[in-house]
Amino acid sequence: MPSDIEIAQQAELLNIREVALKLGLQEDSIEHYGRYKAKIDLAANPELKSRPDGKLILVTAISPSPPGEGKTTTTVGLGDALNRIGRSTVICLREPSMGPVFGMKGGAAGGGYAQVVPMEDINLHFTGDFAAIALAHNLLSAMIDNHIHHGNALGIDPRQVSWKRVMDMNDRALRQVVIGLGGKVNGQPREDGFDIVVASEVMAVFCLASSLKDLRERLGNIIIGYSYAGQAITARDLRAHGAMTALLKDAIKPNLVQTLEHTPALLHGGPFANIAHGCNSVIATTTALKLADYVVTEAGFGADLGAEKFIDIKCRKSGLRPDACVVVATMRALKYHGGADVKMLDLEDLAALQAGLANLEKHVENVTRHYGLSCVVAINRFSHDTEAEIALVQRHMQELGVKVVLADHWAKGGEGAIDLAREVVRLAEAGGSTMRYVYENADGLWDKLRKVAVNIYGASDIYAPRRIRATIDKLQADGFGHYPICIAKTQYSFSTDAAQRGLPHEHVVTVRAVRLCAGAEFVVMICDDIMTMPGLPPHPCANNIDVDDDGRISGLY
Ligand code: ADP
Ligand code: MG
Repeated sequence: MPSDIEIAQQAELLNIREVALKLGLQEDSIEHYGRYKAKIDLAANPELKSRPDGKLILVTAISPSPPGEGKTTTTVGLGDALNRIGRSTVICLREPSMGPVFGMKGGAAGGGYAQVVPMEDINLHFTGDFAAIALAHNLLSAMIDNHIHHGNALGIDPRQVSWKRVMDMNDRALRQVVIGLGGKVNGQPREDGFDIVVASEVMAVFCLASSLKDLRERLGNIIIGYSYAGQAITARDLRAHGAMTALLKDAIKPNLVQTLEHTPALLHGGPFANIAHGCNSVIATTTALKLADYVVTEAGFGADLGAEKFIDIKCRKSGLRPDACVVVATMRALKYHGGADVKMLDLEDLAALQAGLANLEKHVENVTRHYGLSCVVAINRFSHDTEAEIALVQRHMQELGVKVVLADHWAKGGEGAIDLAREVVRLAEAGGSTMRYVYENADGLWDKLRKVAVNIYGASDIYAPRRIRATIDKLQADGFGHYPICIAKTQYSFSTDAAQRGLPHEHVVTVRAVRLCAGAEFVVMICDDIMTMPGLPPHPCANNIDVDDDGRISGLY
């Protein structure tokens, strides 16, 4: 099998104009970024608003094993398959961050014969959205220090500025820095740090905003820190939000590309799945629903994290309602949850597989019972999966009344996911989904955490040290209690301990830190040591990436 980039480079792409035409978008409705990328100009398409919505399919997964389970790949393969069986389909994905591209994971444009293209462009810069988001973020940073330098009329306490700087690169040396060194003309020295762009609150705001106006409003609400008097200081107080919005006015338009099989794909925004909600922009998803019969979209991490946030944050804010859900499982992840050694996941191990099914069962229960969605389990097939393993999973889940479909899109493209597409259509058209939130707006912040921890994670209790509990109570008293919560925890376990695989029992969810995102309008509850500026591994992917004399890129995957 050729590598992902070899497959992508052999593909014959349609001019993006033709992809747009498939969606009924004429030349004057799109803005070209070269031949194969475009932005959809929503202002040029006012009639879209009155069109009926297509069906929304959410792709999520079991708790992953470290190598990843193929949600993006399945989203692409399912989209291609739906088009093949005559349902016009658009897929919606996040834009890749350059941290993982140059670091360990590699690109995020799918894999095998289920990819979005041009994969090199998508993985490197793309249409410049992340650069615009970084600029908007850093403009606010610059305005904070400038304000302090020129007399600090707002009384900003430099020790209480939580707004850092950002860059789209894994660079651990920038996690903690001191700025303003070099004397009076260089500003006020203070401690600062860098986060990766996808961890910026501007990214979360960008992805939740429903319009340019809403974006401006939310950017204005961002709290950058506190004054000496203890007052929250916002971007609006610094009069930064107008200029920040100006920097984002083009970025906010969804990006149109295509899959290897020319299925239209909107790739837009890419917030972290831990300290943010981890799915593409609301604007892209709502636009896609106006353009096609079916929209397939991915939520980051496992169904305990990504899908929960998709529903409790993104759907709550936007009114979106999934019509069906696909839970991606792999034999390697099931064996991993059954206790198999990470190095042995490619070998048949029916005992580990059987034991690992508890993880899948709980995710399916969450999706159907707690989120209220009809669901199908898609086995993302790897070449080393054995017939006996596949039969075991199918038999077991059938006994529970859950349909399991084998999907081979990685090796075969859309053709390999036709059975999955048919089952998805059956579920969506049967109308059996009645989406439910895990908690209500009116529940207190602490109760929201308890509901997610107990119902979704299967925890026996929740805990926060006194100081953290006091912060939560203060946020509640200050009028932020109606916000949804965004829980940051490991993706590898239902618990907050990555080592507890499978279905852990009697675990306690402990909150270590709390963060108010007044622009994104959620309260982040951090249960782990969350890395908001990753580092590069000993042998980063960047070592393998190169470009020849003709500009042809190699080594990306
Ligand atoms: P996720 O979205 O769940 O993080 P991806 O779809 O990005 O996962 O896939 C992770 C990696 O696994 C990619 O490099 C992809 O090419 C690879 N992959 C996915 N499915 C398969 C498969 N069936 N066989 C082999 N490799 C796969
Ligand atoms: Mg993915």
